[in-house]
Amino acid sequence: MKFSLDLATVLLLFNTSLVVGAISCLHALFYSPGNRGLGILAASFLSLSCGSAIAGLGETGLLPLHLWAYSNVFLGFFGYAFMWLGIRILSGRTSDRAIVFALFIPAMWIVVALITDFPVDNMMRATAFHVTAIGYLAFSVADVLLDHRREPLPSRLLLAAFLLGSCLGFVWSLAGILAPGSYGPSISTAFFLQILVNFGIAMSSITLGKERVETQLRHAALTDTLTNVGNRRWFFSQLPAQPMPGSAIIAMDIDLFKLINDNYGHECGDAVLHGFGQRIKGDLRGDDVFARMGGEEFCLYLPETSADAAMVLADRLRTTVSRTPFPACDRELSVTISLGIAITCSSDRTWSDVLRRADNALYNAKYCGRNCVRMETLPAARVEMAQSQASPFPRQFDGLAETLSPRNA
Ligand code: GH3
Ligand code: MG
Ligand code: MG
Repeated sequence: MKFSLDLATVLLLFNTSLVVGAISCLHALFYSPGNRGLGILAASFLSLSCGSAIAGLGETGLLPLHLWAYSNVFLGFFGYAFMWLGIRILSGRTSDRAIVFALFIPAMWIVVALITDFPVDNMMRATAFHVTAIGYLAFSVADVLLDHRREPLPSRLLLAAFLLGSCLGFVWSLAGILAPGSYGPSISTAFFLQILVNFGIAMSSITLGKERVETQLRHAALTDTLTNVGNRRWFFSQLPAQPMPGSAIIAMDIDLFKLINDNYGHECGDAVLHGFGQRIKGDLRGDDVFARMGGEEFCLYLPETSADAAMVLADRLRTTVSRTPFPACDRELSVTISLGIAITCSSDRTWSDVLRRADNALYNAKYCGRNCVRMETLPAARVEMAQSQASPFPRQFDGLAETLSPRNA
């Protein structure tokens, strides 16, 4: 199928892409006011749209040359300066010094224009506009990509690709302006390219804001706000669909925590909970799953961990907590914890079974005087199975638990 791009239609579509971009950004900003940068991006699209409309009127002789040539090129300069500023802020950067830079280049061009009157010369005007647009678009690509490491949202790459497309489109057009008839695209093709990327820049900017909000909501839904460790829902989302033999679940509970609240106040209790969560989290491997299950109860999942290793780790956590007090309300509060361990084996069908066994072991630890670790007590047949599946150096669980009781620790 053969089709041609009529210049008048392509110019109309170009302006449409800018107006749609501005309206979409304003709409997204209205419903998610936290997406800073979208307002400036909308101003950028509107500025470019006005510049292009004025050029259209000027070309048909409806406006005096100086009026349309000057306003066209300066709306273009400010348009791309605002685009960079809006993208930069949307990307999560601060705006103070950037505002100065965004205004400096157009201001510099105003001075040059007043001295040389360059905007009335078509080639000079187009060259200055293209160079400015290329510069600001290149800065925008760099900002979006550099921030990807800090905030790896998928739409960053899409936005960077559209910005780069726009930048390369202007480079191609500039080649055509500086060496007419050689490398450059036709005017229609150049505008058509910019229509595509303008839609892309607007849509991916809005998607970036939405992805950010979604990520924050997901994080909030899966994180305990007081301790900043995962919550119960996150804990279960991290477990394999079914218990695989040879992993450990450790249930832990702060001892006599009610006394802390009663003696020092709820605020101090909160500070201890926060300190406890952070201390344990900082003491674990990357693939260990640690979460606050509710109140002063926490749970730890250790993948591919033998009974011996789980015992050693649990006791290390117990000592870490008991040896160093937690800063709370201008004082240092000492607490202890009790821990119960369950080891998964091939007969386990659900995680609830394993967690219940870890809880029973925890109650056993409380019953034995607190500040100690207890392994679940298994029927003889299960002991043999669990030892062969989980531990390279099997031992009697009961014996282990005994050696780690507070009396012997
Ligand atoms: P035990 O050694 O038997 O576990 O004794 P305990 O006092 O720790 O247990 P108990 O279940 O009697 O009390 C738990 C307390 O934890 C009661 C509740 O007020 C407190 N608690 C639960 N959630 C929070 C919280 O978010 N902040 C504070 N400050 N306290 C909490
Ligand atoms: Mg408790
Ligand atoms: Mg409790």
